[in-house]
Amino acid sequence: MREKLKCAVIGATGMVGQRFLTLLENHPYFQVTGVVASPRTAGKTYEEAVSGRWKMAVPIPEEVRKMVIINSENIDEVKAIADFVFCAVDLPKDETRALEEAYAKAELPVISNNSAHRWTSDVPMVIPEINDNHLEVIESQRKRLGTTKGFIAVKPNCSIQSYVPMLTPLLKYGLKKVLVTTYQAISGAGKNFETWPEMVDNIIPYIGGEEEKSETEPLKIWGEVRSGTIVPAKDIVITTQCIRVPVTDGHTAAVFMSFENTPPRETILEEWAGFRGVPQILELPSAPKQFITYCEEDNRPQIKLERNLYNGMGISAGRLRPDTLFDYKFVGMSHNTLRGAAGGAVLIAELLARQGYLD
Ligand code: NAP
Repeated sequence: MREKLKCAVIGATGMVGQRFLTLLENHPYFQVTGVVASPRTAGKTYEEAVSGRWKMAVPIPEEVRKMVIINSENIDEVKAIADFVFCAVDLPKDETRALEEAYAKAELPVISNNSAHRWTSDVPMVIPEINDNHLEVIESQRKRLGTTKGFIAVKPNCSIQSYVPMLTPLLKYGLKKVLVTTYQAISGAGKNFETWPEMVDNIIPYIGGEEEKSETEPLKIWGEVRSGTIVPAKDIVITTQCIRVPVTDGHTAAVFMSFENTPPRETILEEWAGFRGVPQILELPSAPKQFITYCEEDNRPQIKLERNLYNGMGISAGRLRPDTLFDYKFVGMSHNTLRGAAGGAVLIAELLARQGYLD
């Protein structure tokens, strides 16, 4: 690429925002030129604003330490210093939707971690290895918004990265029924054991809204582009239970699946081993060399051993075997705040940059 694209992070002081800043430090394509948050913290330097709430294991990147936080309402100020924005804010859905649209209409592309626009039919919801073709709806979205450059692209919920990658190359065998139980880390709720001591030695069998997202978002990811919108896949039924477990980072999924034309086990393993997407072909900076890594050992994948595979961007799987009620079962795992949140959004931005959408 020629010179680096300038980006601002909206929600820069939050858990996902902090992760963005650490991932973007010394990024080969992007340079952080702005930190944006609510009117509560606007005007403070970044280090003042996150004092006592910096949650990353590495220090605050030097390039942002002294930056003054911009109020997210001041879009012109952000536009003056950035080519595009990442967004991860803790706001009611309608306010997030309005905020993201206002930035897009101001000709600043928005790459979002929020759920507000996931079901807008001309907004691509992307796992770059799986549905990069959905980016083509950006043209019709730009027409709707009346923009030449601005648009919104989103990443899906963190839970689905632990099973959708393994199911995708098996769609061609007539995948029809999927049952998933997810075991989700506390960082997914923006917490650690200090801020959520009740989670030590505990399990909570409820995560608000998560089961609905986990059952429906894969259908949009597998959907078809028709007349500038994404039409979700039909004929695949997914049922889920989502459970909060005492783990810092990393979501695990226990998955059962049935097919119309059941493939042999060896075929499934070959499909997983050979699954390469555009990020691998283009060698995008955040792309894992191997998208799905299958662990042969019976006691893998394990959170502590596999979550940081390829800097937290690799997906791991194990224990593929026949089942008594379904055709097969397996266990999947992904890092929820890297692949499942900020890292996934950075990978989308890298893809968009290479395909010319951010120029
Ligand atoms: P968080 O730690 O509570 O941070 C919230 C951020 O939103 C803060 O930077 C806050 O800024 C900012 N904010 C609030 N109101 C704002 C406004 N009016 N304008 C601009 N910024 C505003 O939340 P989080 O865990 O990072 O999550 C952020 C979003 O990402 C949520 O939509 C969440 O669902 C999604 N997400 C989170 C995860 C995860 O693993 N945690 C994974 C996937 C998606 P102030 O400091 O000024 O209050």
